[in-house]
Amino acid sequence: MKVKAILLAAGYGKRFGEKKQFLKLKGEPLFQYSLNTINKLDIIEETLLVLPEEDVDRVKIFSFKPVRKIAGGGERQESVYNALKSISDCDIVIIHDSARPFATEDMFLKGIENIKKGYDGSITAIKTVDTIKRFHNDLVIQTLNRDELLQVQTPQTFVFEKILDAHEYAIKNNIIGTDDAFLMEKRGYKITFNKGSSFNIKITTKEDLKLAQCIAGILSSAKKSPFE
Ligand code: C5P
Repeated sequence: MKVKAILLAAGYGKRFGEKKQFLKLKGEPLFQYSLNTINKLDIIEETLLVLPEEDVDRVKIFSFKPVRKIAGGGERQESVYNALKSISDCDIVIIHDSARPFATEDMFLKGIENIKKGYDGSITAIKTVDTIKRFHNDLVIQTLNRDELLQVQTPQTFVFEKILDAHEYAIKNNIIGTDDAFLMEKRGYKITFNKGSSFNIKITTKEDLKLAQCIAGILSSAKKSPFE
């Protein structure tokens, strides 16, 4: 089976205030953390690194494996589609946000295993421990059943032909999703989940960056993996 990865690093950090994918954490740019993990995975034969157009020629990467740099789009969904369109000869594609530098090899491998079991997609997720409520204006209107809720992370792994189809269907029908699995759900594809981690944070705010510095410290000093 031919497996390829899409590493998204084409955001402009609107909420963060700068392009966070290039921020350095313990001396390495954020996106390089995910490339380092992908480098350890023999099964991934090529990575598409999606960057802001103006950074494609400028950005230096370190990789033992083939990496193709391509330009992203104005929104995350467009960046993913640009990458999907430039892929051929592929069975499984893994989509990962570079804003999550601490995804593990296991998260990638378990996603691939789930596709091999027959699912159309597998998302990395953790069960919600907080109580989640819906609100409208300043009123709480509903308490959701925590036992049925997942907090969704990346990597997300898909059958290549089906995720390409889901993106094309989304364009035709004006569907916009905050993750790729949503587009697959809308198309009726079967999605399962593989185990994520509380360490697999998405860096969105300056607070998250402080947390990421702590996690990077824990990971570099740990004798054995702190991931369960
Ligand atoms: O902005 P947000 O944190 O939701 O972005 C999630 C991931 O998608 C980030 O890794 C970011 O670089 C990427 N992205 C992208 N192209 C965009 C917007 C976001 O590749 N136009």
